[in-house]
Order: sequence, then C-alpha cells, then structure tokens
Amino acid sequence: MPGHHSEEEDDHMEFCRVCKDGGELLCCDTCPSSYHIHCLNPPLPEIPNGEWLCPRCMCPPLKGKVQKILHWMWGEPPLPAEPPPGPDGKPINPLTKPPLKGHPEREFFVKWAGLSYWHCSWVSELQLYHTVMYRNYQRKNDMDEPPPYDYGSGEEELNNEKRKSKDPQYAAMEERFYRYGIKPEWMVIHRVLNHRWVLTVKDSFTSPSLLECHTFHRPGIKRNPARLNYG
Ligand SMILES: [Zn+2]
Ligand SMILES: [Zn+2]
Repeated sequence: MPGHHSEEEDDHMEFCRVCKDGGELLCCDTCPSSYHIHCLNPPLPEIPNGEWLCPRCMCPPLKGKVQKILHWMWGEPPLPAEPPPGPDGKPINPLTKPPLKGHPEREFFVKWAGLSYWHCSWVSELQLYHTVMYRNYQRKNDMDEPPPYDYGSGEEELNNEKRKSKDPQYAAMEERFYRYGIKPEWMVIHRVLNHRWVLTVKDSFTSPSLLECHTFHRPGIKRNPARLNYG
C-alpha cells in the first residue's frame, strides 16, 4: 500500500515527526519522514491515495542565505483539508463531520545576506527549520509569544506617531518594515551613482563592498545626480 507504513524493510521513521509517537503513520514518498494524519497541518481526514509528499519536502527552499531573523509572528492557520466524499460519492455534510482545522504556524521576517533591508521578507518556520540561524534564534528568544513591535522610544516615538498620521508613505513603511526593528536610516538612499538613477542603499549589516544597487525613478531629482548624497 503506497504511503502506508507496513513493510519490515521500510526505512521510514517509526515515529511521527511532530509528536514523536508511533502508531499508524503516513510516510513521505521522497524522504524518511512519517506523520500521523492528525498531526499534519491542516490534519488530513484520512490516508491519501497515491503519492504523498511531507510538509518538509513540499516547502519551497529559501531564496538565499538568511543573514538575520528580525521578527516573528503567528501566521494565518492553513485552510482545512477537503473532506473525502461520503460512501454515496456526495460531499459529507459539514455539520455531521466538521472539517479538521489547521493551526497557526510561526512566520519569520528575515534579512537576506547580500541584499538591503528593502528586500527583507517573510518565510515559514519549515523553510528556516534546518538552519543554524534558526536554532540560535530559538534558543535566545521566546517562541510562544511573538516579540513586541518596535515603535522606537521616547521623543522619537512621538515624532513617528505624528509623522505616521500625516504621511501615508511613512505609515506604509512602518507597516512593512519599521515595526519589525528596521530603522528608517538603514533604508535611506546612500548615493546616486549616475543619471540612470542607479543608487546604492546604505546598509549597516553588509560590508561597503557588498552595497547593492537599485534603479529608482525619481523624477524629483534633477541635474548632476552624482553629487547627491542622502547618506
Ligand atoms: Zn503525531
Ligand atoms: Zn518528505
């Protein structure tokens, strides 16, 4: 039976990846992982037919090397798996058999090595799981309660509040970057390189030689752009 743990010579794990217990386990077709169907997220109502890949084998690889984890939060729970049709082939009444709900998983806001803060993005815990970065982060941080948002402190905070209410662009940046601990000055355009508006972005984490170039369309910037310096 494919995807079913039964044979002696099977080299799949004899315990569930999630709860570490044995029993009836669903085996991945491409790696040695085994899972209880109720331990999956979302849980499966029954052993699926045909080929099955585990969550680790299904998750997309990281797009690069993670330099730093800036923040984490609980993501939206995945949608429940489609229940199998009843014996008559009709969908089962959701009132008699409610779909098994998934639970939220952690998502991490990361800075990528060699890319500026503008490229920081969210990745799933599964994607990060195998990295040393993640293991270190997990040791040093509370993994039950997400860290508070970083809204600066004291006077600066007041100014930010004022600015946010007046400036929709600042509010958008706050929403996307600043509240996760990214400082506005880390995102400031450093220098205009030439008239095609190729700009370097100041980045305190990467070495100066790794400064990355962006092409911006800044109609407001006029003549002799090589002299402009925002750093
Ligand atoms: Zn389990
Ligand atoms: Zn697998």
